Amino acid sequence: MRTRLGESYGTQLVPQNGMIPAHLLGNMWAQEWGNVYPLVAPKGAQGSGYDLTELIRAKKTDAKEMTRYGERFFTSLGFDSLPATFWTRSLFTKPADRDVVCHASAWNIDNVDDVRIKMCIEPTAEDFITIHHELGHNFYQRAYNKQPPLFQSGANDGFHEAIGDAIALSITPEYLKQIGLLDRVPGPAADTALLLRQAMDKVAFLPFGLLIDQWRWKVFSGEVKPADYNRAWWELRNRYQGVSAPLARSEGDFDPGAKYHVPGNTPYTRYFLARVLQFQFYKGLCREAGYTGPLHRCSFAGSKAAGQKLNAMLEMGQSRPWPEALQAMTGERRMDAGAMLEYFAPLKKWLDEQNRGKTVGWEQAAPVARSR
Ligand SMILES: [Zn+2]
Repeated sequence: MRTRLGESYGTQLVPQNGMIPAHLLGNMWAQEWGNVYPLVAPKGAQGSGYDLTELIRAKKTDAKEMTRYGERFFTSLGFDSLPATFWTRSLFTKPADRDVVCHASAWNIDNVDDVRIKMCIEPTAEDFITIHHELGHNFYQRAYNKQPPLFQSGANDGFHEAIGDAIALSITPEYLKQIGLLDRVPGPAADTALLLRQAMDKVAFLPFGLLIDQWRWKVFSGEVKPADYNRAWWELRNRYQGVSAPLARSEGDFDPGAKYHVPGNTPYTRYFLARVLQFQFYKGLCREAGYTGPLHRCSFAGSKAAGQKLNAMLEMGQSRPWPEALQAMTGERRMDAGAMLEYFAPLKKWLDEQNRGKTVGWEQAAPVARSR
């Protein structure tokens, strides 16, 4: 990232042994970097060979049909179709006559099967993935509806966020061909591009996912005082993400407040956990589906065996400690990032070659003077 951004913007702005200015990463919080993929795409390679956004637009797929694709993934695993009320009561597109919160969300209204999504779906690859994420919540909610009310929740905070993402990892070129969106599956040469694009979102997010609660917990414990809120924020951003503030900051700024979950008081570790868990779920379900090839090319779509394992975990809700829920699906009791490493292993090899002779890691900025 740093090398390529340095080539685009100059090494004055992007020092090659220092931090990357946060505003160059294509996302308001520099939490996921996939939006600047074109700047760092492998040179001379054929690229990923297709553009999912273009495929969706070419088919004139509307918001409901995009959602149907997500539903069909779950029914292919053996889950029941969504109830008719889902289709009449959800919000799929941005209304023309009023303001709504467009941040995508999934809802469980009656703790039985009145599940809904609220989303302003656009015909893009990003929204196609997001729908699978939101439906993961809805199918989880419906699966644990036989549990007593106190157990009608995810096995832990990370589980709920990881289900739909584990499903979305199965949206491989092979799968897109199966469902009629893609004509020709690109060869293995396209894997690097696909994995790089994926890593810019999934891997780059990890330090960000970790640091939000680091900051919140330090604030709650009093370790960080109000006079140091912004300084402490940027120290964590520097240390974990290796990104620097675009401009000089002071305690007259309150940058953490720009992240919804900070003023909204929503714990954030769930998203960090989900990033790790989704790969572990995905690998477990691929194994159950009998898949034996390179992990990143697996799609467990259509596997009733995988569906049964998934459902065994979902229907437990929060009734058992989470290691038991994890075991019901994957056979493992411990959270393990090994599946994530395995998924990205071909990319890691490529990156090691690209980075040979270059500085890996970054020097910290001089600490900002502590305010009194
Ligand atoms: Zn979610």
